[in-house]
Amino acid sequence: MSLSLKVQHYQRIPGTTQLRLTRVTPYVRLCRDDGPPLFVQGGQVYSESGDRMTDQLPEWFWDEAAKMSLAVRQEVGLVLPGEPPQPTTPAPAPSTAGDGRLPCEICGRQLLPRQRNFHRLAHERAAARRVEDAGRV
Ligand SMILES: [Zn+2]
Repeated sequence: MSLSLKVQHYQRIPGTTQLRLTRVTPYVRLCRDDGPPLFVQGGQVYSESGDRMTDQLPEWFWDEAAKMSLAVRQEVGLVLPGEPPQPTTPAPAPSTAGDGRLPCEICGRQLLPRQRNFHRLAHERAAARRVEDAGRV
């Protein structure tokens, strides 16, 4: 996968003019002082030109990465050195409440099936906002 600055991916619903959000690929942009920025997306780090970073990352990168919240790091698949690796596809946890509630893959909150779409949308909006904020740094 290469870096995609397009965060939200839409698909037209056949026969309509409506677009449906099908995929969200959040990224974060990290930089320090006057240096070139680095981007993190899908567990990979990319240079400003979109090339995947295969060399050792600069020391400041990890300083900046450590300032990110766990939720944001999980969204872009970034694991700090010494942290256990994150599962790429979280296994759905069995329902415990008996009323069809399942935990949200992102925040772990127990949700009823009818709440899930709306709740997920809220995460997507929040991720898009954070990306905009990160871009302003
Ligand atoms: Zn959630």
